[in-house]
Amino acid sequence: MSLTAERHTDLDRPRFFIDGKWAEPRGSHTYRVDEAATGEILGTAALGGEDDIDTAVRAARAALDHGPWGRTSAAERAAVLRRFADALQKRAADTATLVTRENGMPIQLSQQVNGGAPAAVLRVYADVIEQLAFEDVRPSSVGSTIVRRDPVGVVGAITPWNFPQALAMFKVAPALAAGCTVVLKPSPETALDAYILAEAALEAGLPPGVLNIVAGDRDAGAALVAHPLVDKIAFTGSTTAGRAIGEECGRSFRRHSLELGGKSAAIFLDDGEIDTLLTGLAGASFLNNSQTCTTQSRILVARSRYDEVIDAVAGYVSAMTIGNPLDPAVTLGPMASSAQLDRVLGYIETAKKSSARLVVGGGRPADQDRGWFVEPTVFADVDNNDTLAREEVFGPVIALMPFDDEDDAVRLANDSEYGLAGSVWSADEDRALAVAGRIRTGTIGLNYYLLDLGAPFGGVKNSGVGRELGPEGIDAYLEYKAVYASKKYLAS
Ligand code: NAD
Repeated sequence: MSLTAERHTDLDRPRFFIDGKWAEPRGSHTYRVDEAATGEILGTAALGGEDDIDTAVRAARAALDHGPWGRTSAAERAAVLRRFADALQKRAADTATLVTRENGMPIQLSQQVNGGAPAAVLRVYADVIEQLAFEDVRPSSVGSTIVRRDPVGVVGAITPWNFPQALAMFKVAPALAAGCTVVLKPSPETALDAYILAEAALEAGLPPGVLNIVAGDRDAGAALVAHPLVDKIAFTGSTTAGRAIGEECGRSFRRHSLELGGKSAAIFLDDGEIDTLLTGLAGASFLNNSQTCTTQSRILVARSRYDEVIDAVAGYVSAMTIGNPLDPAVTLGPMASSAQLDRVLGYIETAKKSSARLVVGGGRPADQDRGWFVEPTVFADVDNNDTLAREEVFGPVIALMPFDDEDDAVRLANDSEYGLAGSVWSADEDRALAVAGRIRTGTIGLNYYLLDLGAPFGGVKNSGVGRELGPEGIDAYLEYKAVYASKKYLAS
């Protein structure tokens, strides 16, 4: 991975997608995308600068203000979204494979979240807008008031590399459904797969300028956030970047939604079932090699069950199959980049110097001599004030700690800057539900954790602002407008 391309492959992406066409970059930055499992070059991608972002935003603005998209009915947009979904579905297998090579995601997960989910989300929002009242008429003291739900405008969507296709579509689908136009800025690490969305959009007949894609680094992201013709920013990424974006959006009163990091807790109560926990760990703590914002990297355990759970989690981790994520038998792939590997190893070294006890893992796997692999690692007796309990590692490093009673568990879980996910494990699901109700978090699972595309997703505290997904997910792309009419219109 470097800013200079060393050689080219058939996966290169030297152009951007702007105004329905492939556009030459106005600068000369190129990013080398390496295959996570081998460290070898996969392809190169042009990186957009401020000028490229400006061209894309102007195309999106023109498409919104003067193009056909703003005049389409919900039924017409729904038809386009469904064609878009079909076009993505046709490419699903290739998309999944490409993302797995880019970021190391196990292939079966990639088939679901990068292959299948984007099309599914498009279809959900096609259904949502067919049922949504974009206008309602209310009697007023003078005549009537027409309450309209208008598109919020030009959307700048900024996405990370960990679930690139799904996270892009969590923004693009509701935005397009609402009648907005979009400039998507994907991460350099997953720039190669991003333009599959452009190919599918072209095939679906999305009008020019409605979806524009310019891969770029944080400077390109900052240029998009600061652009005066952008009406709303939809961001997924780190809390650090989210804070900078929120500040800028606050200054300009730009609408924004921020999906940020987490340090979520799994709470294992004294009546929890070990087998249930072991079945659920893959989704709760190790999804996508733990490079997932919802990773439950703190496991809080009732003291009476503590040793038993430590042994069980250590056994689970030791039995994981580490290797090339294109192999369906592999359960733990590599980190997405060498920088990400260094970050995770750094957290492991810090934890080794703390009072925590290393139970299993703690370095790079001896049998992987290339790629960005790290051993799944478990520390016990972690203090909730330790770095390992406070900061998001974004890798397979788990902190185990005991609690005395439910109040203590709730206190520890809530003693975090973050509030994105979590889970409660108990043989009595009513009891788990009561504990879950006391945790300050945007989502929480009972005896498992898996995202439900049909429900709003997002965080509290430093984990973000706003919600994506579910029928509610369209709200972030709509703006109310009240028209006070002197005439008495009939409710439609
Ligand atoms: P990141 O914040 O470094 O980058 C995310 C995106 O933002 C990239 O496209 C990057 O180029 C851009 N960016 C970075 N700084 C920016 C700035 N100042 N202005 C504008 N754009 C900027 O995050 P990452 O390392 O790519 O992704 C990992 C992070 O994303 C983790 O913290 C993870 O928890 C978070 N995440 C959150 C969710 C969620 O839904 N809450 C989902 C996935 C990932």
